[in-house]
Parts: sequence; structure tokens; C-alpha cells
Amino acid sequence: MEYFSGHISDLIEQLASLPGIGTKTAQRLAFHIISMPEERVERLSKALIDTRRKIRYCSECLTLTDSEKCPVCSSAKRDHKTIMVVETPRDLAAYERTGKYNGVYHVLHGAISPMLGIGPDDIRLKELMRRLTGDVTEVIIATNSTLEGETTAMYISKLIKPTGIRATRIANGVPVGGDLENIDEVTLLRALEGRTEL
Ligand code: ZN
Repeated sequence: MEYFSGHISDLIEQLASLPGIGTKTAQRLAFHIISMPEERVERLSKALIDTRRKIRYCSECLTLTDSEKCPVCSSAKRDHKTIMVVETPRDLAAYERTGKYNGVYHVLHGAISPMLGIGPDDIRLKELMRRLTGDVTEVIIATNSTLEGETTAMYISKLIKPTGIRATRIANGVPVGGDLENIDEVTLLRALEGRTEL
């Protein structure tokens, strides 16, 4: 039997469909939202819609941003000759939080996974290769240390070899199977500093 009216049920259902939010949390959030002043609810929904509408891929590194180039790519203070390849914008954020990496990024939006049928053409590799025709001295491959991440790293290193550009892989300080975004900054920095030649 339905405890809640259609609108409340729908709100709970929508919230529960988000990652990491179970039914109980969804209910708590739903009732919190209902009790909020109407203008706060409007601000919240406007933020959701505006972000969704305005968000786009950076024309250089393909991270998610709301202008043609993301803040990292538009900064003259960054070393544009060093490109760190990551799987997701969240991985980029993890390295940005360390505050110690001064190069730029390339976001693949995924990793090669033969099991899931995700091939090299399904991630943003062509865009990476296009960037490497420019003035680049090093590509740091910082894909996750999962099977998919390692497969992708190997594939990229093979692509880069003929270009003569230095390719490095972040060290194994990052635990096997670990997602970059969940790893603390010290470990990330150690992995970056201990990177090895490919
Ligand atoms: Zn960018």
C-alpha cells in the first residue's frame, strides 16, 4: 500500500535513483525539501537545471566545464606541455586537490574494457592523439589501477611510442583496484612523484 501521495512518492523515487542514496535517505531528503521555504527549493532546482544545461566539454582536455575552456586549460600559469591522462573529471579533481600538479589534463571519459565491450574508439583517445601533434613533452598516464585502467594505460603507451614523446605511468602507491578519487592526497602525490617510464 502507498503511504505517500503521488508527488511525494515521485520525489522520493527520483532522489533514491541517485548514486549512494537509499530509500531511507531519499525519504529524509524528500521531507526536508518539503519543509524548506519555497524560494530555497526554487534555488535548488534552478541550480540543478542551470548546471545541466550549461555544462559542456572543455575544448582541450574534455573535462566538464561551463565555458569553452576549463579553468586549468585557460591558465597561463600551467605547464601546457605536460598532459596527465585521467579517466574521469572526478580523477582530475582529485589531483587538483593536491595543489601540486602544474601540468594540464586529458579526460578519457572511461577506460577500455573488452568485458563491457568498451573499445578504444569509445573513449576520448582520438582527441588525445590530436593534442600530441602539438608541443607536448610528457604524457603522464594516471588511469586507475583496475584491469580496465591498466589495459588503457598499455594501449596509450603503445600509441605514444612512435611519437617519441615521453610517456610515464603513475606509481603503484595507488592500491590495486582503487579509484583515484577515493585516494588521499599524500598517496596521490607519491604516485605522481614515483612515476615510471613506459
Ligand atoms: Zn580543459
